[in-house]
Amino acid sequence: MYTLKVEGAFEAAHRVAGYPGKCDRLHGHNWVVEAVVKGKELDELGMLVDFKVIKKALKNTLERFDHRFLNELEPFSEGMNPTAENLARIIYEELEGNEVFQRDSYLSAVTVFESPKSSVTYTKD
Ligand SMILES: [Zn+2]
Repeated sequence: MYTLKVEGAFEAAHRVAGYPGKCDRLHGHNWVVEAVVKGKELDELGMLVDFKVIKKALKNTLERFDHRFLNELEPFSEGMNPTAENLARIIYEELEGNEVFQRDSYLSAVTVFESPKSSVTYTKD
């Protein structure tokens, strides 16, 4: 089994409504997102998936969050807080639908870093 990891990033503001502290106030983060891809079969070049292809898929997924106020975006505009946990799941679900994962490799995990020392990993299990 091969495990491949790529990293993307975006900058965005959010607030955690109802949080008993300063995170309830509007503030921003430099969000870093890692996507982990797994698979057993390599292609004729000896690659699981081209890094470039996965990076592009991740970049496309993150684009709609960049330089935005996350609370105003779907699905957070419905009242769900854009915490690192919810972001990790939403990004996972959106990235998983990319055609690059229709072959032998699959998206295994998405980790969202709210800061260099604080992150959340979402997996399906
Ligand atoms: Zn925050």
